[in-house]
Amino acid sequence: MKEKITLKEAVRFHGHLGPYLVLGLLAGEAALKRLNCRKFFGLEVKVRGAGEKPRSCLVDGLQLSTGATYGKGNIEKLDGKKISIAFRNRDNNKRLKISLKEELARKLEGLKGHRDSEAFAGALYRAKPQKIFNFTTGG
Ligand SMILES: [Zn+2]
Repeated sequence: MKEKITLKEAVRFHGHLGPYLVLGLLAGEAALKRLNCRKFFGLEVKVRGAGEKPRSCLVDGLQLSTGATYGKGNIEKLDGKKISIAFRNRDNNKRLKISLKEELARKLEGLKGHRDSEAFAGALYRAKPQKIFNFTTGG
């Protein structure tokens, strides 16, 4: 749980490297840390605004990093225009919401083609969570 999922592992699971996959990894890792919750069974994840590709790739990154999966039923996709991810720690009911910073959302919209997206994804992987995400906590 302590070690970061590598890009190689993520690509092996998902099939290609893209920014939304990486965002899912980073958001999931940040949430586990901030909510101090147990990977796999200790949390619930609700993802909004990721209905279609490439945005929906987010969900695979989240499953990998949090261990919340469709098989276990503790992750679900909901309608929404903007991407936001709500996490709940099942042990203490603490909640955290993560959304994308405007600047990042604009950059994502401006990506052209596969190569561009792949390069951006690689750079994103090394970004600090507080630089790319907005965090909202709640009880
Ligand atoms: Zn993808």
